[in-house]
Amino acid sequence: MDNTRIDWADMTWNPVTGCRHGCNYCYAARTAGRFAGYLSQGVKVSNDPRKEEIVQEVKLPNCEREGIVVLDKPLKTMTAAGNVVNAPYPFGFTPTFHRYRLGDPVKKQRPRNIFVCSMADLFGTWVPTKWIVEVMDACMAAPQHNYLFLTKNPRRYTELDEMALLPRRNNFWYGTTTTEAGQSYFISEHHKTFTSVEPMTGPLFPEAGGILVDWVIVGAETGLRKNKAVPERAWVKDLLDACREEGVPLFMKRNLTDVWGENLVQELPTMLGRR
Ligand code: SF4
Repeated sequence: MDNTRIDWADMTWNPVTGCRHGCNYCYAARTAGRFAGYLSQGVKVSNDPRKEEIVQEVKLPNCEREGIVVLDKPLKTMTAAGNVVNAPYPFGFTPTFHRYRLGDPVKKQRPRNIFVCSMADLFGTWVPTKWIVEVMDACMAAPQHNYLFLTKNPRRYTELDEMALLPRRNNFWYGTTTTEAGQSYFISEHHKTFTSVEPMTGPLFPEAGGILVDWVIVGAETGLRKNKAVPERAWVKDLLDACREEGVPLFMKRNLTDVWGENLVQELPTMLGRR
């Protein structure tokens, strides 16, 4: 569990890492690729993203199915300074369940807003339901925190809810990443919901028919990628006006400063107010 520079959460927690959506702007994939690798019997397999394919070919005995990995204890890696530490992304961006991290929230007693799986899509179609259930159970074991989930596959929230596997708790916030109008997102009478419009690549509201979630986050693309999307100020202003009209808090990420200026609107729902 790590402190984070993400401005709408206190900590990130990654019991699952890796994602197969393949977004070309993915910062997480670049980071995981950079730190991929682990020590095998004292020999470093790879931490070079150019060798990621080699790393991914390694088959562990507990691989549950082709292309996903379960780790009951951490693999080790060596830092540039020569220190041996837990390998954060031993298989790069291959979906990996770090089961040994499930006890982390309980160890933090002070309440925090925790972004769950900032380096994955926990609700991707490739993620076994039992991984999700184990993560939810770990969250429920530490009810002092707020948990923020985010997916590009909101259909999975609905499927899980139909199986009574999506906890209906006020400290569980289910977010959908959208980038422009017309994309589906999770709404529910029984759950706290939000949408993260990031990177904003086009106008969003009011085309989507109003704001039906409890909170909206908006941001620009992170990083220096060539041809990266830059939101227009008017799109952000329309979104702010729509939120104001419906009394929904809006949080502008710091990376919107170039578009909006220093006076960012950074509202949190009351329940997520910093404690
Ligand atoms: S959904 Fe998120 S984690 Fe997955 S590839 Fe896209 S940006 Fe990366």
